[in-house]
Amino acid sequence: MKEPIYVTRPFLPPLEELQPYLERIWANRQLTNGGPFHQEFEQALCDYLGVEYISLFTNGTLALVTALQALRITGDVITTPYSFVATSHSLLWNGIRPVFVDIDPETLNLDPDKIEAAITPQTTAILPVHVYGRPCDTQRIQSIADIYGLKVIYDAAHAFGVEDEGGSILRHGDVSILSFHGTKVFTTFEGGAVISPDAKTKKRIDYLKNFGFADEVTVVAPGINGKMNEFQAALGLLQLNHVDTALKERAELDRQYREALADIPGIRYLTLPDCSRRNYAYFVIMVDPEYPISRDELYTRLRQNNIFARRYFYPLISNFPMYRALPSANKSNLPIASASADRVLCLPIYPGLDKSALESTVDVIRGGRSVLLHGIRA
Ligand SMILES: *Cc1c(COP(=O)(O)O)cnc(C)c1O
Repeated sequence: MKEPIYVTRPFLPPLEELQPYLERIWANRQLTNGGPFHQEFEQALCDYLGVEYISLFTNGTLALVTALQALRITGDVITTPYSFVATSHSLLWNGIRPVFVDIDPETLNLDPDKIEAAITPQTTAILPVHVYGRPCDTQRIQSIADIYGLKVIYDAAHAFGVEDEGGSILRHGDVSILSFHGTKVFTTFEGGAVISPDAKTKKRIDYLKNFGFADEVTVVAPGINGKMNEFQAALGLLQLNHVDTALKERAELDRQYREALADIPGIRYLTLPDCSRRNYAYFVIMVDPEYPISRDELYTRLRQNNIFARRYFYPLISNFPMYRALPSANKSNLPIASASADRVLCLPIYPGLDKSALESTVDVIRGGRSVLLHGIRA
Protein backbone atom coordinates (compact mmCIF):
# COMPACT_ATOMS: atom_id res chain seq x y z
CA MET A 1 0.00 0.00 0.00
CA LYS A 2 1.26 3.48 -0.89
CA GLU A 3 1.83 6.07 1.84
CA PRO A 4 -1.43 7.86 2.61
CA ILE A 5 -1.64 11.39 1.20
CA TYR A 6 -3.64 13.65 3.51
CA VAL A 7 -5.35 16.88 2.60
CA THR A 8 -3.00 18.66 4.96
CA ARG A 9 -0.04 17.89 7.18
CA PRO A 10 1.38 20.28 9.71
CA PHE A 11 4.67 21.91 8.89
CA LEU A 12 7.07 21.16 11.77
CA PRO A 13 10.55 22.67 12.06
CA PRO A 14 13.53 20.38 12.83
CA LEU A 15 13.11 18.94 16.34
CA GLU A 16 16.49 20.14 17.56
CA GLU A 17 15.32 23.73 17.06
CA LEU A 18 12.71 23.17 19.77
CA GLN A 19 15.26 22.07 22.37
CA PRO A 20 16.45 25.55 23.52
CA TYR A 21 12.83 26.70 23.94
CA LEU A 22 12.02 23.69 26.10
CA GLU A 23 15.16 24.26 28.16
CA ARG A 24 14.00 27.80 28.90
CA ILE A 25 10.58 26.59 30.02
CA TRP A 26 12.15 23.88 32.19
CA ALA A 27 14.54 26.41 33.71
CA ASN A 28 12.07 29.14 34.57
CA ARG A 29 9.15 26.81 35.41
CA GLN A 30 6.60 29.25 34.07
CA LEU A 31 4.15 27.13 32.11
CA THR A 32 1.29 29.55 31.43
CA ASN A 33 -0.43 32.76 32.68
CA GLY A 34 1.22 35.14 30.24
CA GLY A 35 4.79 33.89 30.67
CA PRO A 36 7.82 35.15 28.72
CA PHE A 37 7.14 33.11 25.55
CA HIS A 38 3.52 34.25 25.53
CA GLN A 39 4.59 37.90 25.65
CA GLU A 40 7.32 37.42 23.09
CA PHE A 41 5.08 35.53 20.68
CA GLU A 42 2.28 38.09 20.97
CA GLN A 43 4.70 40.85 19.97
CA ALA A 44 6.39 38.80 17.24
CA LEU A 45 3.02 37.95 15.76
CA CYS A 46 1.95 41.61 15.75
CA ASP A 47 5.16 42.44 13.88
CA TYR A 48 4.78 39.57 11.42
CA LEU A 49 1.11 40.19 10.65
CA GLY A 50 1.34 43.98 10.72
CA VAL A 51 -1.35 44.53 13.37
CA GLU A 52 -1.13 46.25 16.74
CA TYR A 53 -3.31 44.35 19.20
CA ILE A 54 -3.35 40.56 19.49
CA SER A 55 -4.69 38.41 22.33
CA LEU A 56 -3.44 34.83 22.21
CA PHE A 57 -5.83 31.97 22.95
CA THR A 58 -5.61 28.26 23.57
CA ASN A 59 -7.68 27.64 20.43
CA GLY A 60 -9.61 29.55 17.79
CA THR A 61 -13.07 28.55 18.99
CA LEU A 62 -12.56 30.08 22.45
CA ALA A 63 -11.14 33.15 20.72
CA LEU A 64 -14.39 33.47 18.76
CA VAL A 65 -16.67 32.77 21.74
CA THR A 66 -14.76 35.34 23.80
CA ALA A 67 -14.73 37.98 21.06
CA LEU A 68 -18.54 37.81 20.82
CA GLN A 69 -18.73 38.19 24.64
CA ALA A 70 -16.34 41.13 24.63
CA LEU A 71 -18.47 42.99 22.09
CA ARG A 72 -21.65 42.08 24.02
CA ILE A 73 -23.27 40.62 20.91
CA THR A 74 -26.84 39.36 21.50
CA GLY A 75 -29.97 38.57 19.50
CA ASP A 76 -29.45 37.56 15.86
CA VAL A 77 -26.18 37.46 13.94
CA ILE A 78 -25.89 37.12 10.16
CA THR A 79 -23.39 34.45 9.13
CA THR A 80 -22.41 31.98 6.44
CA PRO A 81 -23.44 28.31 6.41
CA TYR A 82 -20.37 27.52 4.29
CA SER A 83 -17.73 27.18 7.00
CA PHE A 84 -16.45 24.94 9.76
CA VAL A 85 -19.11 24.35 12.46
CA ALA A 86 -17.17 26.35 15.07
CA THR A 87 -18.30 29.57 13.34
CA SER A 88 -21.99 29.03 14.21
CA HIS A 89 -21.33 27.06 17.39
CA SER A 90 -19.64 30.14 18.86
CA LEU A 91 -22.96 31.96 18.42
CA LEU A 92 -24.98 29.22 20.14
CA TRP A 93 -22.49 29.21 23.05
CA ASN A 94 -23.39 32.86 23.54
CA GLY A 95 -27.14 32.30 23.25
CA ILE A 96 -27.14 34.09 19.88
CA ARG A 97 -29.31 32.96 16.97
CA PRO A 98 -27.45 32.48 13.67
CA VAL A 99 -29.19 33.84 10.58
CA PHE A 100 -27.75 32.13 7.51
CA VAL A 101 -27.23 34.14 4.35
CA ASP A 102 -26.14 32.65 1.02
CA ILE A 103 -22.64 32.91 -0.43
CA ASP A 104 -21.16 34.37 -3.58
CA PRO A 105 -20.54 31.70 -6.24
CA GLU A 106 -17.07 33.04 -7.16
CA THR A 107 -15.55 33.69 -3.73
CA LEU A 108 -17.74 31.32 -1.67
CA ASN A 109 -17.82 34.08 0.97
CA LEU A 110 -20.98 35.67 2.42
CA ASP A 111 -22.71 37.47 -0.48
CA PRO A 112 -22.91 41.19 0.41
CA ASP A 113 -25.88 41.58 -1.96
CA LYS A 114 -27.95 39.28 0.25
CA ILE A 115 -27.10 40.66 3.67
CA GLU A 116 -29.52 43.60 3.85
CA ALA A 117 -32.61 41.50 3.17
CA ALA A 118 -31.78 39.39 6.24
CA ILE A 119 -31.42 42.32 8.67
CA THR A 120 -34.19 42.75 11.27
CA PRO A 121 -34.44 44.77 14.50
CA GLN A 122 -32.97 41.74 16.30
CA THR A 123 -29.81 41.76 14.18
CA THR A 124 -26.76 43.00 16.10
CA ALA A 125 -23.78 41.82 14.07
CA ILE A 126 -22.37 40.12 10.98
CA LEU A 127 -20.01 37.14 11.34
CA PRO A 128 -18.39 36.52 7.93
CA VAL A 129 -15.60 34.01 7.23
CA HIS A 130 -12.64 34.64 4.90
CA VAL A 131 -13.20 31.14 3.61
CA TYR A 132 -10.07 29.29 2.39
CA GLY A 133 -8.17 32.51 3.12
CA ARG A 134 -10.01 34.44 0.38
CA PRO A 135 -10.79 37.96 1.62
CA CYS A 136 -14.45 38.89 2.00
CA ASP A 137 -15.72 42.07 0.40
CA THR A 138 -14.76 43.96 3.54
CA GLN A 139 -15.69 47.40 2.20
CA ARG A 140 -19.24 46.47 1.28
CA ILE A 141 -19.76 44.55 4.50
CA GLN A 142 -18.51 47.52 6.54
CA SER A 143 -20.75 49.99 4.73
CA ILE A 144 -23.81 47.80 5.40
CA ALA A 145 -22.75 47.46 9.05
CA ASP A 146 -22.35 51.23 9.31
CA ILE A 147 -25.79 51.95 7.87
CA TYR A 148 -27.57 49.50 10.20
CA GLY A 149 -25.35 49.97 13.24
CA LEU A 150 -24.05 46.39 13.29
CA LYS A 151 -20.78 45.00 14.62
CA VAL A 152 -18.59 42.89 12.31
CA ILE A 153 -16.61 39.91 13.62
CA TYR A 154 -14.42 38.19 11.05
CA ASP A 155 -13.72 34.49 11.42
CA ALA A 156 -10.27 34.66 9.84
CA ALA A 157 -9.30 31.12 10.92
CA HIS A 158 -8.10 30.40 7.36
CA ALA A 159 -6.56 33.78 6.66
CA PHE A 160 -3.19 33.82 8.44
CA GLY A 161 -0.84 36.18 6.61
CA VAL A 162 -3.35 37.31 3.97
CA GLU A 163 -3.11 40.95 2.92
CA ASP A 164 -4.99 43.35 0.69
CA GLU A 165 -3.71 46.67 -0.69
CA GLY A 166 -4.07 48.28 2.74
CA GLY A 167 -2.17 45.59 4.67
CA SER A 168 -3.35 42.69 6.83
CA ILE A 169 -6.98 41.74 6.26
CA LEU A 170 -7.16 41.21 10.03
CA ARG A 171 -7.53 44.97 10.48
CA HIS A 172 -11.11 44.90 9.13
CA GLY A 173 -14.27 44.81 11.22
CA ASP A 174 -14.58 45.20 14.99
CA VAL A 175 -12.39 42.14 15.64
CA SER A 176 -10.95 39.20 13.72
CA ILE A 177 -10.05 35.78 15.02
CA LEU A 178 -7.34 33.34 13.93
CA SER A 179 -6.89 29.62 14.52
CA PHE A 180 -3.51 27.91 14.90
CA HIS A 181 -4.98 24.39 14.92
CA GLY A 182 -2.80 21.60 13.53
CA THR A 183 -4.68 21.66 10.21
CA LYS A 184 -4.13 25.39 9.58
CA VAL A 185 -1.28 27.02 7.61
CA PHE A 186 0.36 28.24 10.81
CA THR A 187 0.10 26.02 13.87
CA THR A 188 0.84 25.92 17.58
CA PHE A 189 -0.76 22.42 17.73
CA GLU A 190 -3.90 24.06 19.15
CA GLY A 191 -4.10 27.82 19.38
CA GLY A 192 -5.85 30.96 18.30
CA ALA A 193 -5.96 34.72 18.60
CA VAL A 194 -8.23 37.73 18.61
CA ILE A 195 -7.07 40.80 16.71
CA SER A 196 -8.47 44.00 18.22
CA PRO A 197 -8.55 47.47 16.69
CA ASP A 198 -7.48 49.27 19.87
CA ALA A 199 -5.87 48.80 23.28
CA LYS A 200 -9.22 49.10 25.10
CA THR A 201 -10.76 46.14 23.23
CA LYS A 202 -7.62 44.05 23.66
CA LYS A 203 -7.63 44.73 27.39
CA ARG A 204 -11.22 43.58 27.76
CA ILE A 205 -10.50 40.42 25.76
CA ASP A 206 -7.42 39.74 27.90
CA TYR A 207 -9.59 39.97 31.03
CA LEU A 208 -12.19 37.65 29.57
CA LYS A 209 -9.71 34.96 28.53
CA ASN A 210 -8.33 34.88 32.11
CA PHE A 211 -11.52 34.36 34.19
CA GLY A 212 -12.20 38.11 34.18
CA PHE A 213 -9.21 38.93 36.41
CA ALA A 214 -8.14 42.57 36.10
CA ASP A 215 -5.59 42.14 38.88
CA GLU A 216 -4.90 39.70 41.70
CA VAL A 217 -8.06 40.55 43.65
CA THR A 218 -10.38 42.10 41.05
CA VAL A 219 -12.70 40.10 38.80
CA VAL A 220 -14.52 42.35 36.32
CA ALA A 221 -16.43 39.82 34.21
CA PRO A 222 -17.50 36.16 34.19
CA GLY A 223 -14.49 35.26 32.07
CA ILE A 224 -13.37 31.92 30.79
CA ASN A 225 -10.02 30.13 30.69
CA GLY A 226 -8.84 30.72 27.12
CA LYS A 227 -5.16 31.34 27.79
CA MET A 228 -2.38 30.13 25.50
CA ASN A 229 0.32 28.24 27.41
CA GLU A 230 4.10 28.63 27.16
CA PHE A 231 4.62 25.48 25.13
CA GLN A 232 2.17 26.67 22.47
CA ALA A 233 3.77 30.13 22.42
CA ALA A 234 7.25 28.62 22.06
CA LEU A 235 6.03 26.56 19.11
CA GLY A 236 4.55 29.70 17.62
CA LEU A 237 7.83 31.60 17.88
CA LEU A 238 9.66 28.71 16.28
CA GLN A 239 7.09 28.39 13.49
CA LEU A 240 7.34 32.10 12.69
CA ASN A 241 10.97 31.52 11.63
CA HIS A 242 9.77 29.08 8.97
CA VAL A 243 6.36 30.32 7.90
CA ASP A 244 7.54 32.27 4.85
CA THR A 245 9.29 29.20 3.44
CA ALA A 246 6.15 27.14 4.10
CA LEU A 247 3.93 29.69 2.32
CA LYS A 248 6.30 29.79 -0.65
CA GLU A 249 6.09 26.02 -0.98
CA ARG A 250 2.30 26.19 -0.88
CA ALA A 251 2.32 28.83 -3.63
CA GLU A 252 4.37 26.52 -5.85
CA LEU A 253 2.03 23.55 -5.25
CA ASP A 254 -0.96 25.76 -6.01
CA ARG A 255 0.69 26.76 -9.28
CA GLN A 256 1.37 23.13 -10.20
CA TYR A 257 -2.24 22.13 -9.54
CA ARG A 258 -3.55 25.00 -11.68
CA GLU A 259 -1.35 23.93 -14.55
CA ALA A 260 -2.08 20.21 -14.23
CA LEU A 261 -5.86 20.53 -13.83
CA ALA A 262 -6.41 23.24 -16.43
CA ASP A 263 -7.96 21.14 -19.19
CA ILE A 264 -10.09 18.52 -17.41
CA PRO A 265 -13.74 18.87 -18.45
CA GLY A 266 -16.03 19.24 -15.45
CA ILE A 267 -13.22 20.13 -13.04
CA ARG A 268 -13.14 23.78 -12.10
CA TYR A 269 -10.89 25.45 -9.58
CA LEU A 270 -11.32 28.75 -7.86
CA THR A 271 -9.55 31.76 -9.35
CA LEU A 272 -6.64 33.09 -7.33
CA PRO A 273 -8.03 35.45 -4.70
CA ASP A 274 -7.77 39.10 -5.58
CA CYS A 275 -5.36 40.30 -2.88
CA SER A 276 -1.76 41.35 -2.52
CA ARG A 277 -0.60 38.45 -0.31
CA ARG A 278 -2.16 34.98 -0.32
CA ASN A 279 -1.59 31.97 1.92
CA TYR A 280 -2.66 29.08 -0.37
CA ALA A 281 -4.28 27.42 2.63
CA TYR A 282 -6.48 25.10 0.53
CA PHE A 283 -6.63 23.92 -3.05
CA VAL A 284 -10.30 23.81 -3.91
CA ILE A 285 -11.92 22.17 -6.93
CA MET A 286 -15.56 22.03 -7.94
CA VAL A 287 -16.74 18.80 -9.56
CA ASP A 288 -19.34 20.05 -12.02
CA PRO A 289 -22.12 17.96 -13.61
CA GLU A 290 -20.07 17.63 -16.85
CA TYR A 291 -17.52 15.53 -15.00
CA PRO A 292 -18.18 11.83 -15.72
CA ILE A 293 -18.59 10.77 -12.10
CA SER A 294 -20.08 12.52 -9.07
CA ARG A 295 -18.06 14.42 -6.49
CA ASP A 296 -18.63 11.66 -3.95
CA GLU A 297 -17.53 8.98 -6.41
CA LEU A 298 -14.36 10.95 -7.10
CA TYR A 299 -13.82 11.38 -3.35
CA THR A 300 -14.13 7.60 -2.88
CA ARG A 301 -11.95 6.87 -5.87
CA LEU A 302 -9.22 9.09 -4.38
CA ARG A 303 -9.55 7.30 -1.03
CA GLN A 304 -9.16 3.95 -2.77
CA ASN A 305 -5.85 5.34 -4.02
CA ASN A 306 -4.92 6.36 -0.47
CA ILE A 307 -5.50 10.05 -1.20
CA PHE A 308 -7.58 11.68 1.52
CA ALA A 309 -9.15 14.72 -0.13
CA ARG A 310 -11.79 16.42 2.03
CA ARG A 311 -15.24 17.82 1.29
CA TYR A 312 -14.82 21.19 3.04
CA PHE A 313 -17.57 22.43 3.56
CA TYR A 314 -20.03 19.61 3.32
CA PRO A 315 -22.48 19.25 4.95
CA LEU A 316 -23.37 22.91 5.33
CA ILE A 317 -23.54 24.09 8.94
CA SER A 318 -27.22 24.84 8.36
CA ASN A 319 -27.89 21.11 7.82
CA PHE A 320 -26.68 20.03 11.26
CA PRO A 321 -29.43 19.13 13.76
CA MET A 322 -28.96 22.17 16.02
CA TYR A 323 -29.45 24.55 13.06
CA ARG A 324 -31.71 22.93 10.49
CA ALA A 325 -35.00 24.09 12.08
CA LEU A 326 -34.03 27.75 11.69
CA PRO A 327 -36.01 29.46 8.92
CA SER A 328 -32.76 30.75 7.37
CA ALA A 329 -31.38 27.19 7.20
CA ASN A 330 -33.85 26.26 4.49
CA LYS A 331 -32.15 25.05 1.33
CA SER A 332 -34.22 27.47 -0.76
CA ASN A 333 -32.57 30.33 1.14
CA LEU A 334 -29.10 28.95 0.42
CA PRO A 335 -28.98 27.72 -3.19
CA ILE A 336 -25.35 28.68 -3.91
CA ALA A 337 -24.02 27.33 -0.64
CA SER A 338 -25.96 24.08 -1.15
CA ALA A 339 -24.70 23.59 -4.72
CA SER A 340 -21.12 24.41 -3.68
CA ALA A 341 -21.21 21.98 -0.73
CA ASP A 342 -22.32 19.24 -3.14
CA ARG A 343 -19.48 19.89 -5.60
CA VAL A 344 -16.49 20.92 -3.55
CA LEU A 345 -13.35 18.88 -2.95
CA CYS A 346 -10.18 20.12 -1.22
CA LEU A 347 -7.03 18.51 -2.61
CA PRO A 348 -3.84 17.76 -0.66
CA ILE A 349 -1.68 20.86 -0.25
CA TYR A 350 1.00 21.33 2.39
CA PRO A 351 4.72 22.02 2.63
CA GLY A 352 6.58 18.81 1.95
CA LEU A 353 3.92 17.31 -0.35
CA ASP A 354 6.05 15.79 -3.04
CA LYS A 355 5.51 16.27 -6.70
CA SER A 356 4.66 12.61 -7.30
CA ALA A 357 1.84 12.77 -4.72
CA LEU A 358 0.42 15.80 -6.49
CA GLU A 359 0.74 14.00 -9.82
CA SER A 360 -1.02 10.85 -8.54
CA THR A 361 -3.86 13.03 -7.28
CA VAL A 362 -4.16 14.69 -10.68
CA ASP A 363 -3.97 11.28 -12.43
CA VAL A 364 -6.90 9.91 -10.44
CA ILE A 365 -8.93 13.04 -11.25
CA ARG A 366 -7.95 12.83 -14.92
CA GLY A 367 -9.00 9.18 -14.93
CA GLY A 368 -12.59 10.10 -14.05
CA ARG A 369 -14.03 8.83 -17.35
CA SER A 370 -12.20 5.51 -17.36
CA VAL A 371 -13.34 4.98 -13.79
CA LEU A 372 -16.92 5.39 -14.99
CA LEU A 373 -16.45 3.00 -17.91
CA HIS A 374 -14.91 0.49 -15.59
CA GLY A 375 -17.89 0.93 -13.27
CA ILE A 376 -20.35 0.23 -16.10
CA ARG A 377 -18.47 -2.84 -17.22
CA ALA A 378 -18.28 -4.25 -13.72
C1 LIG B 1 -10.45 25.82 12.42
C2 LIG B 1 -11.58 26.77 12.40
C3 LIG B 1 -12.14 27.31 13.55
C4 LIG B 1 -11.83 26.82 14.92
O1 LIG B 1 -10.54 26.91 15.31
P1 LIG B 1 -9.95 25.92 16.41
O2 LIG B 1 -8.59 26.51 16.64
O3 LIG B 1 -9.89 24.55 15.80
O4 LIG B 1 -10.81 25.97 17.61
C5 LIG B 1 -13.12 28.29 13.43
N1 LIG B 1 -13.56 28.67 12.23
C6 LIG B 1 -13.08 28.15 11.09
C7 LIG B 1 -13.61 28.65 9.79
C8 LIG B 1 -12.10 27.15 11.13
O5 LIG B 1 -11.65 26.61 10.00
